[in-house]
Amino acid sequence: MDLRYSLEDEEFRAVVRAWLEVEVPAHGPPPSPDDWPARRAYDTAWQRKLHAAGLAGIAWPRAFGGRGLPVSQQLVYLEEYARAGAPYVGVNFVGLMHAGPTLIAEGSDAQRAFHLPRILAGESVWCQGFSEPQAGSDLASLRTRAERRGDEYVVTGQKIWSTRAHVADYCELLVRTDAQARKHAGITWLILAMRQPGVTVRPMRTIDGESHFCEVFLDEVRVPLENRVGAENDGWRIANVTLRFERGTAFAQHIINLRAQLVRLAALTKSRSAARGAPRDDLRRRIGRLDASVEALWRMTQMCISEAEWTGAPSPLGSAVKLRYSELGQELAELAVRVVGRPIIGAVELDDLRTDDVAREYLWSLQSTIAAGTSQIQRNLIAQRILGMPKGR
Ligand SMILES: Cc1cc2nc3c(=O)[nH]c(=O)nc-3n(C[C@H](O)[C@H](O)[C@H](O)COP(=O)(O)OP(=O)(O)OC[C@H]3O[C@@H](n4cnc5c(N)ncnc54)[C@H](O)[C@@H]3O)c2cc1C
Repeated sequence: MDLRYSLEDEEFRAVVRAWLEVEVPAHGPPPSPDDWPARRAYDTAWQRKLHAAGLAGIAWPRAFGGRGLPVSQQLVYLEEYARAGAPYVGVNFVGLMHAGPTLIAEGSDAQRAFHLPRILAGESVWCQGFSEPQAGSDLASLRTRAERRGDEYVVTGQKIWSTRAHVADYCELLVRTDAQARKHAGITWLILAMRQPGVTVRPMRTIDGESHFCEVFLDEVRVPLENRVGAENDGWRIANVTLRFERGTAFAQHIINLRAQLVRLAALTKSRSAARGAPRDDLRRRIGRLDASVEALWRMTQMCISEAEWTGAPSPLGSAVKLRYSELGQELAELAVRVVGRPIIGAVELDDLRTDDVAREYLWSLQSTIAAGTSQIQRNLIAQRILGMPKGR
């Protein structure tokens, strides 16, 4: 792996930077966080612009409509994207970051031909229906069942924590197709169309006052056989491909954003210390340590993206990236609350920051060590799949 940027990479950087400098301000500010139809419209309109500019699916192979950029230019793109403060991938996250890549790796030609262009162009929004009330960390114990009747499956059960399911068109759905088999062996990966009879979506309110995710109830929902990805009962293997994309490369943009957050925090610490008339060496040291950690994490991410390019899917190293990213994000958000101090309980402007945004970011950061597999589960995976340690009892 050569981490230096070539002349060609720098030329690409200039093109991306120039495009973002015009388009980001033109796209306007994001809508209110609880107006989900407006959020969908905002995020998908941005995706359409990226697509029209040839910047959708930068890591996707050209054969599937992506830009097929080499790793170095993917990294340049992500750096410029964060620098410009461009819109968050938002409702397009699941489609672009793991459903699309799973279809590229495991889908049929017909599934790829139908879904991939729509995901890239911001025309279809995906959600993930993996977790259930009794199946989170132990995902393989899921119970939503799919019975084969003629040329379709009839699906009944319940999913939970399905992020943005209330604005989704499709769902990557795990179902049990063989109740007698070992639990990992009776699972199938289906593409579920969300807008059809029998699908009920109920948003759930979180501690930050928003409704990021939903319960999804499935009552005799029809799914055509051609919507099965891979073979029947081979869904556990395919789910692991999805999870490796979700944990490995999907967070790259978030990790770059950590650096932007850290720069804001350093500026705030400086001005708060000046206002109090006393420098805070303890805070300066913590910020210095965080800076080094974010840099190290970015290098791990580069390695992960680079590996994914060679092998077609991220390796289990993604668990280490996800673990470190989520814990660092929490540390940063918690430190921001400390730096703001008492004004955190109001909605006050400090420098360019609103203190209620800092509080909301802190509350939201609490989810990161749970979503996409908890930190304990990532540690288990690191122990078993990277370090080769035996399974605990
Ligand atoms: C913001 C957010 C978004 C999400 N989005 C989605 C989504 O779109 N689609 C979806 O399907 N799911 C989604 N999830 C669900 C997420 O994948 C689960 O919450 C997660 O896998 C944990 O499962 P659980 O909540 O059932 O906790 P549990 O599995 O009940 O875990 C409870 C505690 O026990 C610990 N634990 C469990 N098993 C072990 C073990 N073997 N070893 C050590 N410790 C263990 C866990 O680490 C945790 O601390 C989302 C979650 C969050 C927070």
